[in-house]
Amino acid sequence: MASQDRIQSPKGMRDLMDDDACYFEYIYDVVRKRFNQCGFKHIEFPIFEETRLFERSIGDTSDIVSKEMYTFESKSGKSFTLRPEGTASVCRSYLQKNMSQLPQPVELWYMGPFFRYERPQKGRYRQFYQVGAEILGESSPAIDAQLILLYANILRDLELLDHTELQLNSLGCKDCRGSYISELKRYYEGKDRSMCEDCISRREKNPMRLLDCKDEDCIILAEIAPKLPDNLCECCNDFHVELKKYLDELGIKYTENPSLVRGLDYYSKTVFEFWGSHKGAQNAIGGGGRYDGLLEILGGEPTPGIGFGMGVDRMILEMERLDISIPKREKVDIFVASLGDAAKLKTLTLINNLHEADVRCVGGVGKPTMKAQLKLADSLRVKYALLMGELEVKDNVVLVKDMERGSQEKVPMEEVVDFVLDKLKNS
Ligand code: AMP
Repeated sequence: MASQDRIQSPKGMRDLMDDDACYFEYIYDVVRKRFNQCGFKHIEFPIFEETRLFERSIGDTSDIVSKEMYTFESKSGKSFTLRPEGTASVCRSYLQKNMSQLPQPVELWYMGPFFRYERPQKGRYRQFYQVGAEILGESSPAIDAQLILLYANILRDLELLDHTELQLNSLGCKDCRGSYISELKRYYEGKDRSMCEDCISRREKNPMRLLDCKDEDCIILAEIAPKLPDNLCECCNDFHVELKKYLDELGIKYTENPSLVRGLDYYSKTVFEFWGSHKGAQNAIGGGGRYDGLLEILGGEPTPGIGFGMGVDRMILEMERLDISIPKREKVDIFVASLGDAAKLKTLTLINNLHEADVRCVGGVGKPTMKAQLKLADSLRVKYALLMGELEVKDNVVLVKDMERGSQEKVPMEEVVDFVLDKLKNS
């Protein structure tokens, strides 16, 4: 196949390997430990869902629904969409599985790939990874604080907390937001000449998005626009004040950001994002918020909820940029080399017996010569190589070679696993 015809990964999608994969695994280990500690249950939901789930929950005017979804028709003619985020699926599952019957709140976490048709660039991919958490069924500023604390603790475990800034805002409820939106629309009337095209078209349907536009002129307009926190109803204001008290008590620093709107229609009251310390468009490493109206929109009883999504790709980039060291992956200790058909036949059993005894071990069964196998053993820097040829098979022994000293010993086959375990224990 000519090199220009060689099949590539889809645009904006990549293979995670080597250092990236080590960070990836480490992040998952850290979050798993934290969620277990906090009593969250793990949920895995489908990679794709009915399209209407996302249309209803995220909202028609959001960037995700209006231009970023991977939507396809199944053979039965039903429309499905690759999941662009996790909250909608968790809420669908809460209703489908009748989780309101369980003790409340229901606390769930997940991790995995998500898909958005975006313009790929560093830190922005079409397949990206998120770790998410949702608390459903109870509403209290203490719950919001608890979730933010959990997020902050994970960042601390990853040594990222000191390099991030927590941005905090309240989007109010249906009532206070309604009158604020009318005020905002009035403010933006007649200002087309200072607004980007996207904002002009968003003004009618989703005017709050105008506040977080990154266009230079729009930023200036947004700075002097009326602010939602000044227009909160008493109940939302009290909730927000209370949340800040909890955060202060916990020593969690935050910046109040009245322009933080988070782009998805379903948020109410608390919204937050953790921003990386470098400036730039892709500096949000994750965020979340409260969505008290969402379950009703999906056909359930009014049920409060709050959640977050952490961008794993962005956390990896930050950890690499800051050169954060993580525990090294444990390396292989033993290499099994064999020569001749009879010896090869015994090799897999020996390797398997070592694995069963929890020894990290590989073999060179695909290599035709002993020299090629020992070269590989050398490059893996194993401590011992176990060698077998026709003669060893006949005598039912294995040669155990100390790779550092170069010395070797003959050990009976049935004793070799214990012998190796003993050597490793004392090395
Ligand atoms: P969102 O809920 O859209 O704010 O996403 C939460 C986090 O997921 C963001 O702060 C990013 O860290 C990450 N994220 C979202 N979209 C992408 C993407 N296309 N590529 C990489 N990371 C993303």
